[in-house]
Amino acid sequence: MNSVFNFSAGPAMMPKAVLEQAQQELLNWQDQQTSVMEISHRSKLFMELVTQADKDFRQLYNIPDNYKILFLQGGARGQFSAIPMNLIGEKGKALYLNSGHWSATAAKEARLFCDVDELNILEDGDTLKIKSLDFTGIADQYDYVHYCPNETISGVEIFDVPEVGNTVLVADMSSTILSRQIDISKFGIIYAGAQKNLGPAGITIVIIREDLIGRARKATPSIWNYETQAKSDSMINTPPTFAWYLCSLVFKYLLKQGGVKAIEKVNQAKAKLLYDYLDQSDFYRNTVAKENRSLMNVTFTTGNDELNAKFVAEATACGLQALKGHKVLGGMRASIYNAMPIEGVKALIAFMQKFEQDNK
Ligand code: PMP
Repeated sequence: MNSVFNFSAGPAMMPKAVLEQAQQELLNWQDQQTSVMEISHRSKLFMELVTQADKDFRQLYNIPDNYKILFLQGGARGQFSAIPMNLIGEKGKALYLNSGHWSATAAKEARLFCDVDELNILEDGDTLKIKSLDFTGIADQYDYVHYCPNETISGVEIFDVPEVGNTVLVADMSSTILSRQIDISKFGIIYAGAQKNLGPAGITIVIIREDLIGRARKATPSIWNYETQAKSDSMINTPPTFAWYLCSLVFKYLLKQGGVKAIEKVNQAKAKLLYDYLDQSDFYRNTVAKENRSLMNVTFTTGNDELNAKFVAEATACGLQALKGHKVLGGMRASIYNAMPIEGVKALIAFMQKFEQDNK
């Protein structure tokens, strides 16, 4: 079955072992003679699943006790609105660091709710490179500072954590969550749609420092209010139980692989193979500065739209799926999330070599 590799940016590939387990227990989960998606979210067995998922996720990502984990709906975009609704306070404004499409989209949405200052943190020029991340001189004017550590479309990753003094730091980690170790205590809120590294679409994880719960503006709808969600264990309405279940299996699977520390090593090895290949080639090019190259989304182009289209078509025919770059950027993008085995990257490189020889 692994002659096909799926490089989709999201919804993305899931670990095969997780899909097999889900398949195996689909009709009879925990001896209930029914599937997990057909039982009450408040049943004892489902509550046990939820408690264990919380525990496993905490262990995987080394989450301190003073943080709550919420499993919400509405995707990362839902959080683009929830964050200002919950965090805007006395200062009445937020700082958004713009490193590309998703951080800019988050800023645009926040403008519906509060004053936003937006700061371009990309250096001028053709190479995508992040400027200095020291905001200690200005951060205290804001209720929070928002950024996106991995821009999924351009493949720009920010490995250093912005310095914001005592101001709350908020991160959209949709395409980098669980890919490498991070110091959670530097963040006020981390959020991520599940459909890349956590599970299927339909569930959104929010890791929130407890003192930030209970600050929502009065007119915040209950489903977007972190306090009501935290008080009801993310079950103020019926949660996406099947997606939650699949995430719980992914957490267990990752723990079995050795946790994020081990996964990070594999991710570094996968990305290095691909970037090293790109660097020695004068046929393909990647325009991200070395220190900001994403471990998860590797973008490249031949510099010729027709050739790019041919590449994608021929790669697909060879079982290398979903390599077409996002429409706002063009070119190619290989998303190599946690579930992508190193064999997938090797197969891609072998194809790239052959394509280069045939089309030079
Ligand atoms: N932020 C980032 C970094 C993303 O990659 C995406 C989806 N590709 C989003 C936000 C939007 O996520 P959702 O579709 O879950 O709202």
